[in-house]
Amino acid sequence: MAYTVTLIPGDGTGPELAEVTKKVVDATGVKINWETAEAGSDVMQKYGTPLPESTLNSVRKNKVALKGPITTPIGTGFRSVNVAIRKELDLYTCLRPCKTYKGVRSKYEDINLVVVRENTEDLYAGVEFAQDSAEAKKIIELSSNKIRPQSAISIKPISKVGTERIVKFAFDYAVKHNRKKVTAVTKANIMKFTDGLFFETAREVAKQYEGKIEYEERLIDNMCMQLVQKPHLYDVIVLPNLYGDILSDLCAGLIGGLGIAPGANFGKDYAVFEAVHGSAPKYTGLNKVNPTALILSAVLMLEHLGETKAAQRLEKAVAEVIAEGKAVTYDLGGTAGTSQMGDAIIAKLK
Ligand code: NAD
Repeated sequence: MAYTVTLIPGDGTGPELAEVTKKVVDATGVKINWETAEAGSDVMQKYGTPLPESTLNSVRKNKVALKGPITTPIGTGFRSVNVAIRKELDLYTCLRPCKTYKGVRSKYEDINLVVVRENTEDLYAGVEFAQDSAEAKKIIELSSNKIRPQSAISIKPISKVGTERIVKFAFDYAVKHNRKKVTAVTKANIMKFTDGLFFETAREVAKQYEGKIEYEERLIDNMCMQLVQKPHLYDVIVLPNLYGDILSDLCAGLIGGLGIAPGANFGKDYAVFEAVHGSAPKYTGLNKVNPTALILSAVLMLEHLGETKAAQRLEKAVAEVIAEGKAVTYDLGGTAGTSQMGDAIIAKLK
């Protein structure tokens, strides 16, 4: 069977990573018609937007996409294309498995954590008001002067329905993958209404899994320390958007860095696979960065397509190349380039 998958190469180091990943996936023997779709800062001039409607339509049509990283200007310029794709397609789950592979330089061994991050709400909802705007002034007034004059304001919405579906995803994932425990993480002692609602809803969902999957809660600050000191205590971790974003990078650090941390975004209808890392712009065009994170994201994509055997073979090939340590990129202590590491993985597949 042949699949049609949208390939969004992205910008910065994205296109070189996407090219290598495509070649590696093709080498598994799974037949994929790649439909390339543009997005990112490089296409801004051509389309007047960094996220053309045709790109979203391609994902809507094919239902599955593999995506390279896309740069987001800080402070000014367009809003995050990555966040926009997740919102437009209602990809409410961001799944980030964090697993140590033999041969990776890390202080820890045998880590096997899964971060489940809510993708559509929280401070990433894009409800922001500029300093001195009429809206900001109104909110300052409503706050009974708890907010200082001339503040810029971001709104943090957390809904019951949004929380229910992400926590349910975490528990269903735990059941399906023989996991033992789900840990919900917030700062509910301070944000009693928003993060409080997240915990309250998570507890209700957890009741449906009693006797099957253990449930516990942690505060985000404590969780950061716990993960650095005792990462083996944790299994599946579910969090609102911002904490999930930050904790994903922390967990990537535990397993040897962003170069090997994969990810997947799931909604009811669509799935977009992408690495945790960004566009690493300083390395653009240098054939230097590690393709593993995007290749392992493609492993998640093959699993999603039902190509379990190909997914297992590809993960094994990646693990062997990392364990040998010869054809690996700089972040894994080697001197290979992006394409050389990809070629070594292809050689293992043969
Ligand atoms: P980044 O993840 O791009 O890079 C941070 C550092 O991590 C790099 O300088 C590099 O040292 C290392 N790194 C990242 N990817 C690597 C790889 N594949 N191999 C080896 N080392 C790697 O983070 P940043 O510098 O904060 O962000 C750069 C841009 O990417 C920003 O515009 C940001 O908004 C965007 N971003 C996009 C996504 C996405 O597309 N989903 C995610 C995060 C950040």
